[in-house]
Amino acid sequence: MSEEQKEPQPEEPKKEEFQFQAEMSQLLNLITHSLYTHREIFLRELISNASDALNKLHFVSLTDEKVLGDDGDLKIEIDLNEEEKRFSIYDNGIGMSRQEFIENLGTIASSGTGKFIKQMTGDSKTDLELIGQFGVGFYAVFMVAEEVTVDSRSYKSEEGFRWISKGTGSYTIEPVELKQRGTRISFKFKEDAGDLASKWRIESTIKKYSDFVSFPINLNSEKANQSTALWSKPKDDVKDEEYKEFFKYIANSTKDPLSWLHLSVEAPVQFKSILFIPEEPERFLMTNDLDTRLHLYVKRVFIQNDCKELIPQWLRFVKGVVDSEDLNLNISREVTQKNVIMEKINKYLVRKLLGEFKEWSEKEKERFENFWKKFGYFIKEGIHTDFANREKLIELYRCESSFEVDKLTSLHDYVERMGTDQEEIYYVYGKNRVAIENSPNLEYFKKNSIEVLYLYDEIDDFIMPSIGTYKEKPLVGIDKADLKLKDEKAAEKDTVQLDAKSKKKLLGYFKDILGDRVEDVIESKRLVDSACTLVSPKDAMNANMERMMKMMDQDFKGGKRVMEVNLSNSLIQHLANIQKKFPQDPLLRDCIEQLFEGASLLEGTLEDPSKMVPRTTSLMEKATALYLKSLES
Ligand code: ADP
Ligand code: MG
Repeated sequence: MSEEQKEPQPEEPKKEEFQFQAEMSQLLNLITHSLYTHREIFLRELISNASDALNKLHFVSLTDEKVLGDDGDLKIEIDLNEEEKRFSIYDNGIGMSRQEFIENLGTIASSGTGKFIKQMTGDSKTDLELIGQFGVGFYAVFMVAEEVTVDSRSYKSEEGFRWISKGTGSYTIEPVELKQRGTRISFKFKEDAGDLASKWRIESTIKKYSDFVSFPINLNSEKANQSTALWSKPKDDVKDEEYKEFFKYIANSTKDPLSWLHLSVEAPVQFKSILFIPEEPERFLMTNDLDTRLHLYVKRVFIQNDCKELIPQWLRFVKGVVDSEDLNLNISREVTQKNVIMEKINKYLVRKLLGEFKEWSEKEKERFENFWKKFGYFIKEGIHTDFANREKLIELYRCESSFEVDKLTSLHDYVERMGTDQEEIYYVYGKNRVAIENSPNLEYFKKNSIEVLYLYDEIDDFIMPSIGTYKEKPLVGIDKADLKLKDEKAAEKDTVQLDAKSKKKLLGYFKDILGDRVEDVIESKRLVDSACTLVSPKDAMNANMERMMKMMDQDFKGGKRVMEVNLSNSLIQHLANIQKKFPQDPLLRDCIEQLFEGASLLEGTLEDPSKMVPRTTSLMEKATALYLKSLES
């Protein structure tokens, strides 16, 4: 070995100092200076990294057995000295080279940490909750240690390196002689984390978070975990507690799951799987493009995290594992993408999950409602994107209605309740029940006891047109102009009826005044008490959609509305009578303007209230003057 015979170069730096990336310092600062209640999660993170390193090595060894050398028993070893409060964890996995130290432990390369930093808000209380949710990986160790030493030797090299840091801005790297491949992380517990330096605490923490790590974890040379693949056991041999613990382990969660499915499938493909529905979706799932949380194993060997081919996007809240007997062990990422077996597994899982949701909806209503409240968003996404399963997903759709107060209804039940002569399914969007029930557009439906679905979620306004028709009944928003309503009201009302000529004249005058601010002014069939309302012309967007378009695009110009006027309303009749005598009376104009702006205000489209307020004042002034006169006479 000529290298060793050379004199050591004096200028070659033995120990080098590096600065953490700026964002990393920010994160470290948060971790080290915050009192965190679940400090024992440092162990979960270190074990998970050790297990990843072992998995990676195992994966390489599938095609190149030599990498294992004479050190083929993959394992994790933890040593705890209770008296000195010293801790170390060692794994004989892939290890790290000098360059990998810099890339992996000095920058935000890691997935979990990166996501965490993206979500940091500057509010340290929520940030701390997030630490629990994401796990900040390796850096969690600084919650319990002042200074951390990592010794590592890559499986590709004979050289070892030592990384040391106090978690405050910088770290050093120096060469060190290491006999074995792998990584050892060691430190002394901080004064205020001394309670963790107990064999019992460490052992129970391993049980709690890491019982299912598929490699043996030895604590002071005694095995401390089960290390069996839970999914390969028969269902009847697995206790509920074990499922729950397994979920917490794979989901990094502190909560129990809402439910789970344990599958053992022989045909059309052979695989085993445990699928979990969490108690609620993670906050970032709605906006994040995260694909899935299903991990792929082949014959009990870990292959891939978050394997998106296993399940459609809209089911990304499902967590768990799939272990295939049919796939090849050295399957690569490219191959999983267009693989027939993967497709079959995917189809099977969707069918099973949909079956499960359907069963809840029929037999466990409370559980289903709870599920719908938390995950309804994803089902709606599915209705919109998963054409193959659309029909089944539509059956799961739920919302409140004018008949169902504080309860949810399905489209199926709505149709069951419909009168025989009702041809359409009606819905309306609003912020909440009170806002909807104050809308003039609802008057007709209330009066005639026709049920209307109440939608409170903006995405529903997209979903309804996307569903289109249900059991051959078109879904119709009640703020559309071409409602097929029966004109039964006129006969019942005991108000004076305007003759056709005065009707035409009055509506014509409305149109003259409002000009191109409206598409049209027509007689209303739907209004009972209110004087007028605005509705969308046939085939146009409704008010809610326009509001959303405006939020997305500031230049968006909404379509014009149709103004409907209630000709049996007494105010409108007064206007008609004034018009007969004084066709151009300025009060007419003021009232028409006021009615239009009032209706716009109600549906949330009035942009400029600056004329409305002085006009109201002036109208009140006129009204009070007349009132005073009437009091005096
Ligand atoms: P994550 O596990 O989400 O990638 P971590 O902060 O836990 O993030 O770890 C950062 C990186 O450090 C890992 O991705 C890995 O490359 C490296 N690393 C950490 N621990 C080990 C280990 N025991 N063996 C090999 N590499 C490790
Ligand atoms: Mg990690």
